[in-house]
Amino acid sequence: MWRGAAVRVLRGGGAGSPRSASGAAVAQLRRRLESELEDIRGAGTWKSERIISSRQGPHLRLAGGGAGAYREAGRALGIFSRCDAAASLFLPAGILNFCANNYLGLSSHPEVIRAAVEALEKFGAGLSSVRFICGTQSIHKDLEEKIARFHQREDAILYASCFDANAGIFEALLTPEDAVLSDELNHASIIDGIRLCKANKYRYKHMDMQDLEAKLQDTQKHRLRLVATDGAFSMDGDIAPLREICQLAQKYDALVFIDECHATGFLGPNGRGTDELLGVMDKVTIINSTLGKALGGAAGGYTTGPKPLIDLLRQRSRPYLFSNSLPPAVVGCASKALDLLMESNAIAQSMAAKTQRFRSKMTAAGFTISGKDHPICPVMLGDARLAAVMAEDMLNRGIYVIGFSYPVVPKGKARIRVQISAVHSDEDIDRCVEAFTEVGRKHGALP
Ligand code: PLP
Repeated sequence: MWRGAAVRVLRGGGAGSPRSASGAAVAQLRRRLESELEDIRGAGTWKSERIISSRQGPHLRLAGGGAGAYREAGRALGIFSRCDAAASLFLPAGILNFCANNYLGLSSHPEVIRAAVEALEKFGAGLSSVRFICGTQSIHKDLEEKIARFHQREDAILYASCFDANAGIFEALLTPEDAVLSDELNHASIIDGIRLCKANKYRYKHMDMQDLEAKLQDTQKHRLRLVATDGAFSMDGDIAPLREICQLAQKYDALVFIDECHATGFLGPNGRGTDELLGVMDKVTIINSTLGKALGGAAGGYTTGPKPLIDLLRQRSRPYLFSNSLPPAVVGCASKALDLLMESNAIAQSMAAKTQRFRSKMTAAGFTISGKDHPICPVMLGDARLAAVMAEDMLNRGIYVIGFSYPVVPKGKARIRVQISAVHSDEDIDRCVEAFTEVGRKHGALP
């Protein structure tokens, strides 16, 4: 009864009843929302979601298959929305996927899937509880121990996502006596986490060490200074200068926090991340990262660092205290992914070789690829329209890549972002490069 009434109200309500007052409010809300949605469409920043009917992997099947699926994917890119003629193109049903964060291909690894099924069967679908009430199972403690061991840190704490880990750490750790210094291009979740805390906030120019040093000097009056940076930045595939950051942190008595979502599992000789790559594992104090990208791709995030910090987060961090425990199947996936990576770094090496193949072939073809040695390979094009039409044409050739333009990236720096995975074959990479070369020539991006 109640639900039915609520649905009727949302659909406009009935005149003359007590519902009509809220009906008017809902009608007003609808008008406001529709106008806001129209503004988003008008600004060309509408994000659609393509529907995948297969597992995540290098080869995807989109729901509906063929042209219908491509039209959906095209809408997702915002390129077919006003051009239905594109829908009549002949398009194959399967596409080659170059836009997932599935860097190591573990999302569909048979052992990862088996571990999830076993955890599901043994530990159930979920905990129906937060951790501190009755939501901690042995597998949660085992995974936290494994994460800490992987990163060579004292302890770790799990969250439902890295977004939550970032939302929870700054508020729990920093007070108005403290200062946080954040790279201007840090991920949205770091920005939001910092907004929630009461520390003094400083934003330094992207990877600009002079600016960071000036801001560290300004913050000497505060009790504690925390420098916060992404380890690898997802739009440019560039890597934070952690050696220099750690040197400055030492000079000005600051702590270093890194978000390793685009590094954990594959950067550095053993895939430990940016701190291993740059030889500063003992100088970075706090790491936040995700289980939702290279480490199996299911979901979840964590903080790893000094034990008293992790103990404090268990007492004070709101997304940890007030949100459900990670489901056993998700824990099973991540735990198996870490086992695979600790047994051997062959998968990470394979991804590095594919990345190198793509970057060098694309550079030889005449493209500019931003960043260095990172599987995020932004093909820099400059012009927003060029990025959109080239991404569309790549899709016509069965290659799924995403064009980014302002406001997601700065004006004049439009690009197509390509993400390489260990499970791309050399042929997949070569097909992608060939398609880029054809499409680049056709649209004037190459001579
Ligand atoms: N930090 C960075 C740098 C990210 O790229 C992302 C995801 O896009 C997150 C945090 C959030 O991670 P999660 O998906 O686990 O919430």
